[in-house]
Amino acid sequence: MNTTTTSIPDPKKVGMVSLGCPKALVDSERILTRLRADGYAMSPDYAGADIVLVNTCGFLDSAKEESLQAIGEAIAENGRVIVTGCMGEEADAIRAAHPQVLAVTGAHQYEQVVEAVHTHAPPSQGPYVDLIPQPDLADIKLTPRHYGYLKISEGCNHSCAFCIIPQLRGKLASRRIDAVLREAEKLVAAGTKELLVISQDTSAYGVDTRHEAREWKGPQDSEKRLVRAHMTDLARELGQLRTDQGTPPWVRLHYVYPYPHVDQVIPLMAEGLLTPYLDIPFQHAAPAVLKRMKRPANEAKVLERLKRWREICPDIAVRSSFVVGFPGETEEDFEYLLEWLEDAQLDRVGGFRFEPVEGAAANALPDPVPAEVIEERYARLMEVTERISTAKLAAKVGRTLPVIIDEVGEPDEDGDIGATGRSQADAPEIDGQVFLRNVPASLSPGDIVDVAIEDADAHDLFGVPEEKA
Ligand code: SF4
Repeated sequence: MNTTTTSIPDPKKVGMVSLGCPKALVDSERILTRLRADGYAMSPDYAGADIVLVNTCGFLDSAKEESLQAIGEAIAENGRVIVTGCMGEEADAIRAAHPQVLAVTGAHQYEQVVEAVHTHAPPSQGPYVDLIPQPDLADIKLTPRHYGYLKISEGCNHSCAFCIIPQLRGKLASRRIDAVLREAEKLVAAGTKELLVISQDTSAYGVDTRHEAREWKGPQDSEKRLVRAHMTDLARELGQLRTDQGTPPWVRLHYVYPYPHVDQVIPLMAEGLLTPYLDIPFQHAAPAVLKRMKRPANEAKVLERLKRWREICPDIAVRSSFVVGFPGETEEDFEYLLEWLEDAQLDRVGGFRFEPVEGAAANALPDPVPAEVIEERYARLMEVTERISTAKLAAKVGRTLPVIIDEVGEPDEDGDIGATGRSQADAPEIDGQVFLRNVPASLSPGDIVDVAIEDADAHDLFGVPEEKA
């Protein structure tokens, strides 16, 4: 008997620190997916890692500072660090602060990151392990399995004065519609119940490819047809997907600018094919400020359109973000914004204090707003938006809403189990939550249950699963 065995060394382990926005998280997932396909294992901590990747954010100066700190921590804890992501475009600044880093690569340079890992921690496996198939569904996801980010394009064709994304990431480059739909289909087949469509400008999807059409199968495989790279077509097709329970996944559109064609997706929300949620970063309302900001789709009729959207789909939740203290913002401009918000009654609002970003055109604008005025306006903005949010959430008490479960707790001393989830008006990480009491022990993350809403505060809802008749 041949007793010779071929020993397969332990795989090299990669640790990942992922900073920044959901878009950066998707990049991290892609890098890890690729590394795993190359035979690496992932390490949940610094100690067990042969090498640590830090995926950085370079959007604001405060984010750069956080990135540099994270790199410093990884060097102190592990010592073998590769830096990637948006701040990787500033390799000199990184090397000046941390000369020990092994390599620095920029945003979306997947090949270079993977190559750097191969150079500094060569894969230990040989052909034996490579024969193991790497099914697509084994993609490593940093986000929980029940929701997933679907990135449809990179870059941006606009030149908003406060933003350096187009410099960092280049012009809009849309993915092929069939590739996006295939990825969405795989995510749903792998258990994703909620798809979060992201890009810098989702409503501009396909503008760069002249909305190039590709063949895509219909709900029944036989019905092949042409589908355009266009937000409306994409939304319609995503609404045709079905989870293993036969229901459409929740599909949220993020970073949508209010171009006229956005009106076309509202009926899909009313039909239940698209989650009634729109994330529209308005950033301001005063025409003079929007003009100086050079915002796209800056048009006056937004309030009228919001009203029409709510007539078509009464449950639509609109989230937005606003910047206070943009250079030249007068007290009148700011009051205009507050009045606009009273009229618009948005469901979710994020407020930001203007912060000059190195390289942004806004830095050269005259009339900077003093820091104490920015603080004071920010507090007023928060007061108004919290009041609106409190009233909107209070109006949901007594209703029954579908809630997707994110986490299920342990039984307390009375045996009651609590859970947290989100309504259709709440995107993960940025919006509110629904806190549930008395949930059945069989409940799992990703389940969608009907919840009787019993209470509300400024941000969150509280309720109990409805008894099934
Ligand atoms: S739309 Fe404006 S803020 Fe958004 S990425 Fe493009 S330039 Fe930046």
